[in-house]
Amino acid sequence: MDYLILVNNLEPLPAGYSDGLTLREVRGKLFESVTATHLEKLLTAAENEGIYLSVISGYRSEDYQQMLWEKEISAEMGRGLSYKEAAAKVGKTLALPGCSEHSTGLAADFGVRGSDDIDPRFNRTAEGRWLCRNCAEFGFILRYPPMKEHITGIDHEPWHFRYVGHEAAELMTRSGICLEEFLHFYSDKYTSC
Ligand SMILES: [Zn+2]
Repeated sequence: MDYLILVNNLEPLPAGYSDGLTLREVRGKLFESVTATHLEKLLTAAENEGIYLSVISGYRSEDYQQMLWEKEISAEMGRGLSYKEAAAKVGKTLALPGCSEHSTGLAADFGVRGSDDIDPRFNRTAEGRWLCRNCAEFGFILRYPPMKEHITGIDHEPWHFRYVGHEAAELMTRSGICLEEFLHFYSDKYTSC
């Protein structure tokens, strides 16, 4: 399993990726098994500090991502946008089918306790701040940080975290670089992560 895999609208999931994926459930959502173990540790550590996180989204099959994409596009077209306009708008917050990190099993969307939908102001909550401070210790990064939109191609998503392994997560968080930058500068050194 390549925990540094880059999946975005320009780099779709490799064919057959899901065949080699072992999934395990955490709080009713599925994750790649090592990611699941570290996610459980993160959730326990948070709770020990009085922080209760809701796990809103985990693994999404490519078919499910396709269904989400089509649903959002038709909703926007129902509001009068052309297909092109709808695709541009939806593409800012939803990956194309086959291009979502959620299909890797390595990504998690979080919210405050009891929430079942993403919140653009999650970074202002105690839960969101705790995650930003502590996620690297458990191998996770804030995958789409502010000020990096021109590199990731995705708007700031304070709720979306990605497992990359402890060492890489610490380095990225400490240096303030995103996964794309990390892979550009350090991929030779960290390919064994
Ligand atoms: Zn997400």
